[in-house]
Amino acid sequence: KLRVGVLALQGSFREHMTLLRRIPGVEPVEVRTKEELDSVAGLIIPGGESTTMALVAERWGLIPELRSFAASQRPIWGTCAGLIFLANRASGMKEGGQALLGGLDCMVQRNFFGAQINSFETQLPAPPCLPRSSDASDTFRAVFIRAPAITETGEGVEVLAEYRLTEEEQAAQGHDSVAVAVRSGPLLATAFHPELTQDSRWHELFVQMVQQHAADAAAAAAAAPAP
Ligand code: GLN
Repeated sequence: KLRVGVLALQGSFREHMTLLRRIPGVEPVEVRTKEELDSVAGLIIPGGESTTMALVAERWGLIPELRSFAASQRPIWGTCAGLIFLANRASGMKEGGQALLGGLDCMVQRNFFGAQINSFETQLPAPPCLPRSSDASDTFRAVFIRAPAITETGEGVEVLAEYRLTEEEQAAQGHDSVAVAVRSGPLLATAFHPELTQDSRWHELFVQMVQQHAADAAAAAAAAPAP
């Protein structure tokens, strides 16, 4: 079975575990220690409160472990607060900031949607890469809770979903939409919370990324000469 981890320090990790359990061939693992982290082929960083999550990770000595996990190119998916963790640049952070993981060439604005309205949901177009086997609809339900938005993306960052701003927001922001789901190499990031819906397609997409990486790593190991 493919071991897929969910960082279980704080936030909506149980909901991610529940959705992962529905996917055949996957063994979901709650990750709190270096050993647990080492045992998984991919990691989900859930939503929650990014400052608190960073503090807990720091206190438990997990930041260097998470950095080396990311450096190993194993896939990581950050949802909401997890997206803030992955972004190279973030605004709206608390004084003192927090240890961020980085790696995703994006500018993230914390509480972008939280400023206007705490939480809301909307239907957004499903990107072509989203698996259609469990649900064939062309849209998905996007749940935003004090959510960040991606206001700039670097080269090599693929935008999977965008949110169109209201005219008022457009005037204030100077652009007409923000990215709310992106993919870049082994990193997937969403500003919304698929784990709070019954739709498992985003989890299936991430599991595909983890499967692909695990298969490539196994092939590379088989091709390498024995030490
Ligand atoms: N606004 C939260 C933060 O900055 C994120 C909210 C969420 O993950 N639902 O940490």
